[in-house]
Amino acid sequence: MSYRPIYLDNHATTPLDERVLAAMLPYFTEHFGNPSSLSHVYGWEAEAAVSRARAILADAIHATPEEIVFTSGATEANNLAIKGVAEAYFSKGRHIITVQTEHNAVLDPCEYLQTLGFEVTYLPVLRDGLIDLAELEQAIRADTILVSVMAANNEIGVLQPLAEIGAICRQHQVLFHTDAAQAIAKIPLDVEQMKIDLMSLTAHKIYGPKGIGALYVRRRNPRVKLSAQLHGGGHERGMRSGTLYTPQIVGFASAVALGLEEQKRESTHLTQLRQRLWQPLSQLEGVYLNGHPTQRLPGNLNISVEGVDGSALLLGLQPVVAVSSGAACSSVKTAPSHVLMALGHSEALAYASIRFGLGRCNTAAELDKVVQHLLGTIQSLRQAQPVRSKSKSA
Ligand SMILES: *Cc1c(COP(=O)(O)O)cnc(C)c1O
Repeated sequence: MSYRPIYLDNHATTPLDERVLAAMLPYFTEHFGNPSSLSHVYGWEAEAAVSRARAILADAIHATPEEIVFTSGATEANNLAIKGVAEAYFSKGRHIITVQTEHNAVLDPCEYLQTLGFEVTYLPVLRDGLIDLAELEQAIRADTILVSVMAANNEIGVLQPLAEIGAICRQHQVLFHTDAAQAIAKIPLDVEQMKIDLMSLTAHKIYGPKGIGALYVRRRNPRVKLSAQLHGGGHERGMRSGTLYTPQIVGFASAVALGLEEQKRESTHLTQLRQRLWQPLSQLEGVYLNGHPTQRLPGNLNISVEGVDGSALLLGLQPVVAVSSGAACSSVKTAPSHVLMALGHSEALAYASIRFGLGRCNTAAELDKVVQHLLGTIQSLRQAQPVRSKSKSA
């Protein structure tokens, strides 16, 4: 087999855990029934598997099974939450608050709603990537219907203070949605303690399959109303029609259960690996850590390198390590990362950034190899083509 670079792009997606695959397999073949077919054993088997999965997911965030709505992933969950709330509450108000560093799956539905006459406030972030809670509170108006703030950022790993945000929203009787695609099973999440009303989840960032996710929708105190975005057979209590994808749902729950089981150990392991990567890099002049130093995902490291060309840096790393400069979904665009720009970076420095997403499968030996190659690449790029002055003025 040909040599493949070391995979450090676990924020884009993760490999499927083999234990998850094993749990899924019978539901493709032997137990293939439609979970909505309640007149025979094929349907009952599938329905029982979906019910078990729903209970596991609900438990993971301290919700009840009826509050879990399966979707195709976090993109769909975000769309359902934001557009669904906007449609259901527009007679109460048409103002939404979100943050400049959100994923495009939150920003784009918000921009779409603006074309329909909604008003959206995009809160800035502090230099460490955290929002200013006082600024959030000041932004809330009488016609605000929704606040959407992500749990963990997919580029810089920053963890927003969910419990504090939830308390502010509850006090002002505004619904609180959080995109927890990068957070589920990696950090503790509790919809009661954090006063979360809607939460988007996905399986493929936590060693589960692609194409499956969920939206948590609070049923009491308060009961959230949601307009469906997909109409059809009335599945998921009318909130999301479409035949449930049993194998993916089983895999999703299995991935969450494994993640919770290993959360503490994995968090320690990833923090150690990250330190192994950051320690030698932090000794270099002109290498900056993006995002809060401790309030971040254990497996995330995001750096900006002064005095090198961003695309030359990525190209130089490519043979040895699979990383990206930002979100996978925006890497097709030529614009620099909107997240790094929101931190106040120049365009050149935002381009010359690397997002490392460390995962379950990475080892210390791999990290040492990456460090060695990275140091050599930065040094040779800086010697060949000093662009320090350009990156400062850009
Ligand atoms: C990956 C990701 C998404 C999109 O999730 P899909 O399941 O791929 O649609 C949304 N938000 C964040 C923060 C993500 O990291």
